[in-house]
Amino acid sequence: AKSAGRNGWVFYSADMEEQIVQRREMEKSLREALKEDQFRLVYQPRYDMKAGRVVAVEALLRWHHPLHGLLMPDQFIPLAEETGIIISLSDWVLNTACRDAQHELQGMSVSVNISAVEFQTSGLVGRVRDALRASKLDPARLELEVTENATLWNPQSSLEIMNGLKALGVRLLIDDFGTGYSSLSYLRNFPFDGIKLDKSFVAGMPHSENANNIVENMIGLGKAFSLSITAEGVETPEQLEQLKMYQCDETQGYLISRPMPLEELKAQIEKR
Ligand code: C2E
Ligand code: CA
Ligand code: CA
Ligand code: CA
Repeated sequence: AKSAGRNGWVFYSADMEEQIVQRREMEKSLREALKEDQFRLVYQPRYDMKAGRVVAVEALLRWHHPLHGLLMPDQFIPLAEETGIIISLSDWVLNTACRDAQHELQGMSVSVNISAVEFQTSGLVGRVRDALRASKLDPARLELEVTENATLWNPQSSLEIMNGLKALGVRLLIDDFGTGYSSLSYLRNFPFDGIKLDKSFVAGMPHSENANNIVENMIGLGKAFSLSITAEGVETPEQLEQLKMYQCDETQGYLISRPMPLEELKAQIEKR
């Protein structure tokens, strides 16, 4: 049996009939949420080690449900993907992130998570182009985070979509690198600009010799392919030091900052 969602919202119960009812309810409430403006973005800074400052932020989705309170992406993205709602949800994310970057985050790039499901439809390039046009954001300031598994379903069409995205002038990052089924030699065939090392590897640093070696090697490998490297989930000063030693380009994690609403982010930037 699946675990209960936070705030007592049980998504899966043992009772089959109840399961179906709950799913349908949640699907309905997902559709309403878009109309009723219940989604928000929070932004987590990405810190450039060489420049010694925040150069980019990652947009992360939150759902403020009128009954169930704050819901995290893991609680609703899977259903949004299964039902296809992810497309309109992702449009909202793209448009909001591009607009915020253009109007409120001068000099910074913004990265947006793109679901693997979006690579199974043909509209992604056009949707990204529309968000760029509507916001007038310089495409060079938009980065798309894609998990390696997105490329597995149909490598040929994924490659075409990625080439289309690159032609718009945006940057492509491999998200959760090291957790998927593909190797870097496979990924070399795709036009990626950078990789984000999954936080599960960083979590073992600096005490696990094994974790240290894996991270050092992944950074070396990324550099050999001329990719910029971001380490995710950096929580301690020791991890930051170690990553600096391995010449990791960027770090992201609770040590530098938690994800936060735009207003808070702006206040923090002004303080620096
Ligand atoms: P992700 O893309 O790997 O995002 C990083 C996750 O790690 C975020 O969780 C972030 O809050 C969390 N995190 C950041 N720093 C630390 C740290 O130092 N330690 C630990 N333990 N965690 C840290 P979040 O916001 O719950 O997002 C979870 C996942 O949901 C994301 O993983 C991403 O795959 C997905 N997601 C979030 N927003 C969107 C979206 O707009 N569209 C799509 N398709 N997926 C999204
Ligand atoms: Ca991400
Ligand atoms: Ca990630
Ligand atoms: Ca993830």
